[in-house]
Amino acid sequence: MNYDFSQIPAQGDKYASRLRIRHCGRLQFLKHAVSVEFGGHGDSFEDLIIAHQGLGKQCLDSGLILSINAHLWGAIFPIMSFGSIQQRQRWLPALLSGEMIAGQAITEPQAGSDMNALTATATVSDKGFILKGHKRFITNAPIADTLIIYAKLDNKLTAFLVKREDKKVFFTDNNPVKGCATATMGDVLLENCLIPTDRKLGKVGAGALMIQNALELERSFIFAGLSGIMEWQLETVINYSRTRKVNGAHLGKNQAISHKIAEMKLRLETITLWLNECARLKIKNKRLTLASAQTKLYASEAFLQSSLDAIQIMGTMGLLETNKMNDFVHDAIASRLFAGSSEIQKNIIAKLLGTGEGYKNEEEK
Ligand SMILES: Cc1cc2nc3c(=O)[nH]c(=O)nc-3n(C[C@H](O)[C@H](O)[C@H](O)COP(=O)(O)OP(=O)(O)OC[C@H]3O[C@@H](n4cnc5c(N)ncnc54)[C@H](O)[C@@H]3O)c2cc1C
Repeated sequence: MNYDFSQIPAQGDKYASRLRIRHCGRLQFLKHAVSVEFGGHGDSFEDLIIAHQGLGKQCLDSGLILSINAHLWGAIFPIMSFGSIQQRQRWLPALLSGEMIAGQAITEPQAGSDMNALTATATVSDKGFILKGHKRFITNAPIADTLIIYAKLDNKLTAFLVKREDKKVFFTDNNPVKGCATATMGDVLLENCLIPTDRKLGKVGAGALMIQNALELERSFIFAGLSGIMEWQLETVINYSRTRKVNGAHLGKNQAISHKIAEMKLRLETITLWLNECARLKIKNKRLTLASAQTKLYASEAFLQSSLDAIQIMGTMGLLETNKMNDFVHDAIASRLFAGSSEIQKNIIAKLLGTGEGYKNEEEK
């Protein structure tokens, strides 16, 4: 499905960020790879990849891509996979149409890569659950209507749907990071926040599995949108190499430049192959752990290298504040951290190859 994003509201403050996601919802963009039964298009992950590549190429907005992916993999898909019938009916229509915006809150000040260090807690009360804790670096927190928050209930990691208007929860608007700047980000403060019983998502103790599923999907597919930006980068430098002249010849005649462009092309195509491999595995209902780690690791490092190469090819023109190429360097650095850093992806890959202690192969599990 091809979308025309020409009418999307302009970038700006957090309200603009919200309007931009909502606009995508109105275009029916948030419904890919969601079955018709749940109100989606009923199409494949391959269709999702094509649609997201189009978004990236037309909008050139990594922040919007990050926000949409947090909304999709952090909220819509967990509700679809783990929600009760009532929860799906209640939450999915507004999330799929973009009327409601969501995300997921896992990270805490003392727990980033190490999920065993999470300390947020949930306790049972006669009126529901009481949540206590502090979440950090949460994409969409300043604009979200609801967030899926992970906290320990009886020491078992569990997911809860928390609404902005719930009492004693604060979705703050702080900690802006340099990369993906148009995505809003903030802390979430839970100060004995009481939520009703029907807001527990999935079983008690299913939190770790839910986080794994959500992160694997995000790692697999967030680079669909970002590869759309990389396609634009490639076309821009090819065009520049044809028009810019040095020593009386086109810049691209210089092998040092043309080889960089060839490498950018190869990186882009390799990411597309990895994206399609993830889509293929998903369609066949196969596990994504290894493929998603490899996709995320390769694509984030490739995005950074191609962003650096694009600036080098354009010279100081590439560093002009008005040149979008600048932003992509920071966006790419952020992409090496969100949804699990490059180091963590290497740990996952190495562990699945059987390195180190504690490895159990499929038969042993
Ligand atoms: C743009 C952006 C958006 C984000 N959005 C969200 C969100 O919506 N929800 C959410 O919950 N979180 C979000 N995060 C947080 C993100 O998930 C964490 O930043 C990430 O998990 C890394 O944790 P950390 O920053 O605390 O680094 P740390 O865990 O402190 O790690 C510091 C460094 O040490 C390395 N390291 C850590 N452990 C190991 C290890 N075992 N082996 C090798 N190296 C290791 C890391 O790779 C990193 O380089 C976002 C982050 C960014 C940048």
